[in-house]
Order: sequence, then structure tokens, then C-alpha cells
Amino acid sequence: MNISENMRDDVQEVLLTEERIKARVKELGQQLSKDYAGKHPIVVCVMKGAVNFFSDLVREIDCQLELEFMGISSYGNGVKTSGIIRISKDIDTSITNRHVIIVEDIIDSGLTLKHLLKLLEQREPASIKTVCLLDKPERRQCDINPDYSGFTIPNAFVIGYGLDYAGYYRNLKYVGILDPKVYEG
Ligand code: 5GP
Repeated sequence: MNISENMRDDVQEVLLTEERIKARVKELGQQLSKDYAGKHPIVVCVMKGAVNFFSDLVREIDCQLELEFMGISSYGNGVKTSGIIRISKDIDTSITNRHVIIVEDIIDSGLTLKHLLKLLEQREPASIKTVCLLDKPERRQCDINPDYSGFTIPNAFVIGYGLDYAGYYRNLKYVGILDPKVYEG
């Protein structure tokens, strides 16, 4: 691994600026405010990647809701999916008969979300929908699509606004493509 002291030096290309993300998050929040009016949903943050998106999104949803956090990962310290999904933290409350909104950072193969949906559906929520900041449809390995999606992006490994490489870059304010020099050679 070859990370620079200035994290911006490891960004090959800025894909989504802070302004574009902010505008889109606002739109998603307005849509969710309409769709969930009077429903008191439980909004679940899938950690850690969704944490920045989740934090901005919930403040754009203008209705009564509760926040929950779940730790789930399908990646090791690499750029390829391992296929292994691990739950490190479950939500603290019952979702039975409640409307649930899962907030994810990115859908790649779709395997993480598929697993998560299967798990949460067993708890018999009133409804369950997914919101994803980024979608890489080219990489899908199963029949899962987000109900709400921020941006469709090309097949590249991206970092920033919550998304990491080996735990780093989550604090970038934008989404960028990671320079392959960081993980190659
Ligand atoms: P999936 O199970 O859909 O293949 O993978 C979903 C998870 O893989 C995401 O929640 C995210 O943690 C990670 N992931 C997938 N693509 C990327 C990417 O381009 N950049 C980063 N940083 N993580 C990714």
C-alpha cells in the first residue's frame, strides 16, 4: 500500500463534487419526506461507508423518524469483493411492523444488500426500502437494485464521502476515483 500524506494526491479524478452530492442528497431527502410522511420510519445506517451520506440525508428528511446503526462489511483491505459478509453490529431496536429505510454507500455486486435484506425481512417489518448513494450496475452479481439511488457511476474503485480504501479517505468531502498507484505495485 502506497498512500500519500496529502490524501488528495491519491485521487485520480473527482467524480462527484461536494456541491453535486449536496444537491442530490437534498433531492433524495425531499422525495423521502413525501414518501414517508406520517409513517415514522426507522432509518438504518450501514456502517461505516454510509455514515457521511446518512448524516446529511436524515437532516434533509422532514418527517418523524428514528435512527439505527448496523455494522456490515463485505470487503477486506482490498478493492475486490471477498463474498464474505460479516455483521459486526446489529440494530438495537425491533423493526417488526415498522417501515425501514436502509441507507448504503454503494451497490457493487449487490451481495451485501441482498444478504442484509434477507436478514431484516425475517424480522417482519411493515416495509423495507433501500437508499444508495452510488450504484455500479455493471458489476451486479444478483437481482438487487436500490429503491432510491443518488448516482449511477462507472466501474471504478471510488473513495471519499464515507467510502474508504484500507480505512482511509472517508473524510474527503467529494467522491473520487482512487489512483491505482495506491494499491498496485
Ligand atoms: P457489494 O456487496 O455490493 O459488492 O459491495 C458493497 C460494499 O462494498 C459497499 O458497501 C462498500 O463498502 C464496498 N464497495 C463496493 N464498491 C466500492 C468502491 O468503489 N469503493 C469503496 N470504497 N468501497 C466499495
